[in-house]
Amino acid sequence: MSPRGWAVLTLAFLGVAVVLAALVLIPWHRPPAPRADQLAALRDLPAEQVERAREFRAALRPGRWAALGIGLLVALALGLTPLGSRLVELAGRPFGDHWIAQAILGGLAVVLVADLLTLPFSAWRHSVFTRYGLATNGWGGWTVDLLKSYAVSAVIGAVALLGFYTVIRLAPRWWWAFGAVGAATLVVLLSFVLPVLVEPVFNRFSPMEPGPLRTELMELAERDGVPVRDVLVADASRRTSAVNAYVSGLGPTRRVVVYDTLLREATPAEVKAVVAHELGHARDRDVPIFTSTGALGAAAAVVALHLIGSWPPLLRMAGVDSVAQPRAFPLLLALATVAGLVFTPVQALMSRRLEARADAHALALTGDPAAFEAMQRRISSVNLGDPDPPRWEYLYSATHPSTVERIAAARAHAREAGR
Ligand SMILES: [Zn+2]
Repeated sequence: MSPRGWAVLTLAFLGVAVVLAALVLIPWHRPPAPRADQLAALRDLPAEQVERAREFRAALRPGRWAALGIGLLVALALGLTPLGSRLVELAGRPFGDHWIAQAILGGLAVVLVADLLTLPFSAWRHSVFTRYGLATNGWGGWTVDLLKSYAVSAVIGAVALLGFYTVIRLAPRWWWAFGAVGAATLVVLLSFVLPVLVEPVFNRFSPMEPGPLRTELMELAERDGVPVRDVLVADASRRTSAVNAYVSGLGPTRRVVVYDTLLREATPAEVKAVVAHELGHARDRDVPIFTSTGALGAAAAVVALHLIGSWPPLLRMAGVDSVAQPRAFPLLLALATVAGLVFTPVQALMSRRLEARADAHALALTGDPAAFEAMQRRISSVNLGDPDPPRWEYLYSATHPSTVERIAAARAHAREAGR
């Protein structure tokens, strides 16, 4: 069988593996609370709070969709016309058209162009956040964050690009197979090192101060059978007044992080509800689940990009002879951008199911649905989240169940427990 035949077979195998992994690992059997209960929860929220949140989200919406649209158009313009390949050539020219310069500088230049063209929308977003009092970092802090994220992306991007085109040179016929393994490895590696290498670039983390709350949280983790060395507090207030918490990392780098804003705004019972939710993620191994399905997806993506990118009409449009050249990187990026937009709702749906399971875990662990509901109200009011967002937006990109879904679920839990 030809390498191309093997690639088709591998893609089919990986596709089946991704679907199977998602079917087995994602808790699909957890339908959202009935719509009537959600609407009842919505009616109980203060009308002016709901209105302000909707106003805020409406102010963000045009910029958000315009950025997605422009990002897509730029990626297509660079990838499906010779523009992008010329940009890669241009970046390599001062270095005698060396392939390493084309691969790294050319690749980064293409990404940078797309980033710069959507930059006005990021600035718009920041201005809306500032106007509504959610951003606390000013334009100086925003610019520093932006430069830091460019720097982090450039480092990760350079390593990935160099690795990718080195593999292509070493194995010109089978690079897609090694590339698939490399992409999957990169996803796992990033999940492992992001909390220790990248998160500290943006925030300072310190162990939670000893006190009754910390003791209670550690006891909660103990009771849950989730060994937690420490609950870390992030200095999120330097950037935002929004409250949040999350769990990240794998194995030895796993950590539960709460925003300092959360400790300032929420009652201890509410903080417990949030941490219990995060413990649910840790206990159910949601980070490994998302990482492993992501790794399989990344491997499948490399093989698919190889197969689709080798299609002669596409190569002609991009003005390149082979998908394996650094000059074809803009074509790969265009295909990856389209795939990213197509798969956003699938990832969002998977994420919502994991989040709903973590909610159920929090309710069972704390046995305090009232605090859970109070926390949901708090998050929605402080973060100006639309408690019941437009359906299409929810289906396309909501990573969490809506506030009214979560409140309705808490009330259903309370009813069940009271029986
Ligand atoms: Zn969560």
